[in-house]
Amino acid sequence: MNRIYQHRIGISVQGRDLIAESNFDLEGPIRPANITLIIGGLHGDEKATVALVATFREQWVATCEVRAPLVMIPLANPDGFIANSRYNANRVDLNRNCDLSWQADCPEPAGPHPWSEPESRAIRDFILTFEPAKVVSLHWALAEIDADGPQSTGLANRMWNAMTPRERAPYRVRVAAREEGQPPDPEGFCPGSFGQWCGYGLRFAGGLRPAMITLELPYDPGAESRPHPLPTAHLTELHARWGENAAAYLDAVQPAVHRMLAAACQYPR
Ligand SMILES: [Zn+2]
Repeated sequence: MNRIYQHRIGISVQGRDLIAESNFDLEGPIRPANITLIIGGLHGDEKATVALVATFREQWVATCEVRAPLVMIPLANPDGFIANSRYNANRVDLNRNCDLSWQADCPEPAGPHPWSEPESRAIRDFILTFEPAKVVSLHWALAEIDADGPQSTGLANRMWNAMTPRERAPYRVRVAAREEGQPPDPEGFCPGSFGQWCGYGLRFAGGLRPAMITLELPYDPGAESRPHPLPTAHLTELHARWGENAAAYLDAVQPAVHRMLAAACQYPR
């Protein structure tokens, strides 16, 4: 079994620990290259994401199936998780609180200013310190593989290729492959979002940007294809009924999601 290290990266509004789990010592003297960061539960009511990161840790990371350097933040919004809320305890959408094109009048509550929330600051500071080469943030359930920035296209393709044709059916891939220096795709633009901050707003020392994927899980893994537009009330219904449907949902989507996450860890090798 592989040792899993735990490291507190911050504290939520209500005082809960924000924990990063890794398969290497984050406090060790040498920082490995090509770190993958996987984030679950940024929206607290999207509980499938938290469950899938936990099972990935048990079945792929602790067992050494994945040996590449990996950090997981399984529950980025613990207060929202407890309250079954999309938002944190200040009723801020942590996925609108980043500083790339932040907007006060965004349709989701973006906070009083960029990085106003302890949860978003903890994730930002972790990324700036450890400079992951790849970031995968899980959400539920728009059924998309979104790549932010041209540097992310190859990773999106690798994750797509990790699925069978049948597993791909509920997903659509939205690769925002814009040229360097161009603004994000206006069709999918999302002010203050974490994915766009990571994919377009960040530049590490040496000029590198991380490959950034927002992995929106399927809402109905039995569907033949992704309806467009999605039925309006589907997210609310899904999230409210997680308890009764969790086992069946995980059975259906887990193999493909785990293979996609493992492919991300191994990329680009
Ligand atoms: Zn979400």
